[in-house]
Amino acid sequence: MNLGADALVADVKAAIAARQGVDVAEQCVLFGGRQLEDDASLSACGVSDDSQLYVSLRLLGGGKKRKKKTYTTPKKQKHKHKKVQLRVLKLYKVDDSGKVQRLRKVCPTCGPGIFMATHFNRVYCGKCHLTYVYEEGQSA
Ligand SMILES: [Zn+2]
Repeated sequence: MNLGADALVADVKAAIAARQGVDVAEQCVLFGGRQLEDDASLSACGVSDDSQLYVSLRLLGGGKKRKKKTYTTPKKQKHKHKKVQLRVLKLYKVDDSGKVQRLRKVCPTCGPGIFMATHFNRVYCGKCHLTYVYEEGQSA
């Protein structure tokens, strides 16, 4: 969000309302642990270009409060961990006879339950950093 240092807190709310569709009246702008008044200017509150303002929503009925961070500088996109449900299913295969087959190597050092990551020519234990390189022709 690009607002000048002499922008008012009300301007911040208006910008958020325009961008997020959150009603100005529902917003509550926080900085340095204080709630900022609408008619205060950002510079008067000590907000500088790289400060982070916290905007929380006034919710009725004691619902869970969700805090929304608002940055005065462009937001960096952090690497997001992709959540895979039932990831463990990838580690086993149940064949037609009902026999469970392990599809991953178990780390010999860490014991059962610690699986080795399978790479194209090697397996690697993320816990003890052990790497086994497969000879050519040998299947993983
Ligand atoms: Zn290990």
